[in-house]
Amino acid sequence: MKEFKHFINGEYQASKAGKTFENRSPVDNSLIGMVHEAGRDEVDAAVQAARAALKGPWGKLTQAKRIELLNRVADRINERFDEFLEAECLDTGKPRSIASHIDIPRGAANFKAFSETLANHPTESFNLDTPDGKSAMNVGHRTPKGVIAVISPWNLPLLLMTWKVGPALACGNTVVVKPSEETPATTTLLGEVMNECGVPPGVFNVVHGFGPDSAGAYLTEHKGIDAITFTGETRTGEIIMQAAAVGLRNISLECGGKNPGIVFDDCDIEKAVEGTMRSVFVNCGQVCLGTERVYVQRGVFDKFLARMKEETAKLKLGRPEDPDANFGPLISLEHRDKVASYYKLAIEEGATIEIGGGIPDMGDELNGGAWVEPTIWTGLSDDARVVREEIFGPCCHIRPFDTEEEVIELANDTDYGLAAAIWTENTSRAVRVGQQLEAGLVWVNSWFLRDLRTAFGGAKQSGIGREGGVHGLEFYTELKNICIKL
Ligand code: NAD
Repeated sequence: MKEFKHFINGEYQASKAGKTFENRSPVDNSLIGMVHEAGRDEVDAAVQAARAALKGPWGKLTQAKRIELLNRVADRINERFDEFLEAECLDTGKPRSIASHIDIPRGAANFKAFSETLANHPTESFNLDTPDGKSAMNVGHRTPKGVIAVISPWNLPLLLMTWKVGPALACGNTVVVKPSEETPATTTLLGEVMNECGVPPGVFNVVHGFGPDSAGAYLTEHKGIDAITFTGETRTGEIIMQAAAVGLRNISLECGGKNPGIVFDDCDIEKAVEGTMRSVFVNCGQVCLGTERVYVQRGVFDKFLARMKEETAKLKLGRPEDPDANFGPLISLEHRDKVASYYKLAIEEGATIEIGGGIPDMGDELNGGAWVEPTIWTGLSDDARVVREEIFGPCCHIRPFDTEEEVIELANDTDYGLAAAIWTENTSRAVRVGQQLEAGLVWVNSWFLRDLRTAFGGAKQSGIGREGGVHGLEFYTELKNICIKL
């Protein structure tokens, strides 16, 4: 049985109070191992270690040396690819075929992409004429923000955690990471990699535990934290924002979504079906950018729905190691119950179940796991809770529309504003509609195609701030202006 300890000041440490909790497999509910739960003492030790590293070896490194170390971390993750893959699949139950293409390689890439961006980004300089007929020169200078708290979710554990740790370290900060209680493994393993690569102790720290009255709250409330970057549910984001208000600490919030997919009559229907299948069902629907509302123009509605049902019927549920499986379980029995409650609600709200809608019979070995059927509904009203609330499961509602104006209004009729996908072969239409959608990310004839140099983040209740490329510099550094009178 595995044991997941905190990683503080370059060493694995148990909880002083001896408090642990179970980590169970979503595939069959078997026990993976025990996770140490941090109290205020462990969180404080991690923050102190991070503060000391900031002043000590890490703070004194040149940018070039820091970037060299982070490149080494990326390479080392790739060298230990199979261990990261196994750890991620054990925690999440997701198919290896998916984690080996998305989670692990992108997780490693996050340590390279941002250090390169940072190394090549200039700061501003302005010349100012002064009343004495002379001038002054203004020079922008970026310094690290300090100790960053990283609070990450369970759906893409390594990828979403390194997406924050990569730029934070590249900018010269130190971090204390609180991974999701559901997925402690890859973050813990990253500690070993940091030591192997020679990253000084205290630069990367990990504390395990839950949110309220546990490691998450203790970390975000800690006075030694200079800024908090969080990915997770909108409601949690609100709580973290309140914690950050004390001491005016900066925040970056990447939260929930109820993302629309818009399929126009003039789309390439096979492209639209293939892309929408991915955006609805990949990672068992547990992707913040995923589509849960699909709007299809009336001329292709029947054809699109029929093709989606055909493809959904082909999804193969199975264990991560099953080479034919492309659909795993949800993250936990608790989340399965939440998603199943929406499946029940859909019926109460009058949905037509086009396919799925229940809990599959996976056989004796797997029935203890968090499995649900991939599901498509039609026929719900626009104010149904199933159409308005984030479910975060493998399901969508498909509804017909007639005009561009109508679909823009429908797509924007939500509290969220994370992502949208548009399917059309008419580029003018794509741009026209894309510009009017209230979302931080709009894909045209694609989905989840990410260039790490571009801005990433949500509008409305999907988040605050943008990360990615140079945009992350705004959060991970302080921009100072030095004014020199000449
Ligand atoms: P969650 O909000 O329940 O938990 C996220 C993290 O916050 C976990 O580590 C958790 O322990 C911690 N946490 C919970 N309460 C806390 C508190 N009071 N103080 C400090 N920390 C606390 O989210 P989740 O269920 O892990 O993830 C799913 C959600 O994440 C979905 O809503 C999804 O849309 C969102 N998400 C958003 C993005 C994005 O980029 N916008 C990406 C992935 C997931």
